[in-house]
Amino acid sequence: MSEDCIFCQIVDGEIPARVVYEDADVLAFLDANPLAPGHTLVIPKDHHETLDDVPPESGEMVFAALHSLTPIVEDVVDADASNVAFNNGEAAGQEVPHVHGHIIPRFDGDGGRPIHAIAGERPDLADDELDDIADDISAAAGE
Ligand code: 5GP
Ligand code: ZN
Repeated sequence: MSEDCIFCQIVDGEIPARVVYEDADVLAFLDANPLAPGHTLVIPKDHHETLDDVPPESGEMVFAALHSLTPIVEDVVDADASNVAFNNGEAAGQEVPHVHGHIIPRFDGDGGRPIHAIAGERPDLADDELDDIADDISAAAGE
């Protein structure tokens, strides 16, 4: 628990939230300032700032909850689709420094945009640069 973290305070029941799912490792609750009806946040109960800080077992539990809750949330609000995403770090727009996955229901013609709309200008990468990046990632992932 991190004393001044609002999501830790929600886990501890010190701040009220509309909790929609809870197990030993994970809590899910409605976003207080929703981008759509049913906008849900899924967090590990333990305080970790970004995905990189989350231990593998906890990450698996968060993904499992996202996986099971997403179709339920969609059904309940009669959504046509959803965006499921993390703002992973401050430069990516993360405001609450306790890692959380967003389930944002989407509706045909809702005027929203795809996940591609969140990044800045597209880089112009040559084939050999893409090859190098792929090689570096695959080498590091195999370590
Ligand atoms: P971030 O930008 O960090 O990915 O998103 C933080 C999200 O947390 C925002 O969508 C915001 O509306 C939501 N949020 C911030 N404070 C609270 C709170 O006290 N309760 C709940 N339920 N959601 C919150
Ligand atoms: Zn926290």
